[in-house]
Amino acid sequence: MVLKGMMTRPSGSHRDQLVMAAIALTNLLAPGYSNGVRFTPPADPAETVSTANAVCEHFYRKQVPFTEDEAERLLGLAGRLHELLLDLADDDLPTAVPKINALLAEFPAQLHLSSTPPWSLHYQDHSASAVEGWQVGCGAALASWVSSGATQYISRCAAVRCDRVFFDDTRSGTRRFCSPRCQNRDKVRAYRLRQAIANENAN
Ligand SMILES: [Zn+2]
Repeated sequence: MVLKGMMTRPSGSHRDQLVMAAIALTNLLAPGYSNGVRFTPPADPAETVSTANAVCEHFYRKQVPFTEDEAERLLGLAGRLHELLLDLADDDLPTAVPKINALLAEFPAQLHLSSTPPWSLHYQDHSASAVEGWQVGCGAALASWVSSGATQYISRCAAVRCDRVFFDDTRSGTRRFCSPRCQNRDKVRAYRLRQAIANENAN
């Protein structure tokens, strides 16, 4: 385990924004568990697309909008990113790396520097569809995070029945839960467990 203090902190660069977008997309569109209940992505393509557009516009102002006919591919991408982010949260790089390379291999990258400030390295141009663009962009950004050790900042929620991921920017790297709700659920669970043990011992 590398100490976080020894690594370059994510800086808010375009690359880092892509990783944040990947995390947000998976938490809103990948099946699994969230806050103690089963989580299923929206069944309506229009809702899937509007959720993704809102997330991606938040992280990249000039994003090409997702279209409804991309909804299924978009859900597929969110699912793959989620699996990959869980591997990274578990520090399982031998499993994660081939998945990142698979994302990168499917579409060509169009590396270029933005022509106006803020100068940032882009991985796709605007001629690609939104799904292609985000697949290449998120894949490249995660690859860059792996190569700089920044994936130590990616964590998974420690509460039961929750597999959402988050960016842990605490100095100590000790954040354990995706949300205050999961933190409270875990507190209640631990309390009940202690009560049950105390009752057992009293009998
Ligand atoms: Zn959680």
